[in-house]
Amino acid sequence: VRAIVLGSAAGGGFPQWNCGCANCTAARDQREGFVARTQDSVAIEHEGRVVLFNASPDIHAQIARTRALWPRGPRHTPIAAIVLTNGDLDHVLGLFSLRESQPLAVYATDTVWRSVEQNAFVRTLRRFPEQLAFRRLPLDEQIALRDSTGASLDIAIRAFSLPGKTPVHCSDAAPSREDNVGIAVEGHRFIYAAACALPIALPADVLLFDGTFFRDDELIRQGLGVARASDMAHVPIEQSLALGRGRRIYTHINNSNPILDPTSAERRAVEAAGWEIAVDGLEIPL
Ligand SMILES: [Zn+2]
Repeated sequence: VRAIVLGSAAGGGFPQWNCGCANCTAARDQREGFVARTQDSVAIEHEGRVVLFNASPDIHAQIARTRALWPRGPRHTPIAAIVLTNGDLDHVLGLFSLRESQPLAVYATDTVWRSVEQNAFVRTLRRFPEQLAFRRLPLDEQIALRDSTGASLDIAIRAFSLPGKTPVHCSDAAPSREDNVGIAVEGHRFIYAAACALPIALPADVLLFDGTFFRDDELIRQGLGVARASDMAHVPIEQSLALGRGRRIYTHINNSNPILDPTSAERRAVEAAGWEIAVDGLEIPL
């Protein structure tokens, strides 16, 4: 079993299409050490079949670049199930790029699924009854993942609530424990927690954790926005550096984050604290 980081950037990617900040400019100029990144998603591969954690808008580019996701026959995909961790557009839009009459098994909490389902686009995934197998993702309960036909994938996961926030497109809904989840892959002590509002210790041998922002006021300081990391329910790296043991990797990195600059003091601080920084294509044996 291995995990493959398909995308290691937050929503918008790196560089972001409408941004000419120092980081994005350096990435476009391909300055040494500035590595472009697509939007957050992780693949878990086991015996040739793949489970995706989140479906990013960049999913086509991610499939094109990752051999484990290539078809092995006409009208075939190794992608056997997709688990959504929240309803953010950068985590669900890729679903609509996987239509083409391909049967899909999608796992999400009821709250997250409701935000997808209220969208008329979901009909494109329901052109015939077997196309979309929706499976409810329960909290704090181990479940064995199955493909769209119901066959076991020999991968068990447990979803658990993480402090987050409801996405903008469903901000009229009442906040719920199901809005944002982390995923533990059972038997491998691997935890994926790409969005987390508080510095919570998560016991894992390998932890992929929210590295969206380094500082709470990062966007304000750089004149890129008015929201704080806390407004967007992301704990800044400054407050999570001391967390955890084992292998710890920041992912879901926003283009404003100074750790993307290989010469920055923030990059040195992260590395000195023993954290790694995810890049697209990073393979993690479990
Ligand atoms: Zn930028």
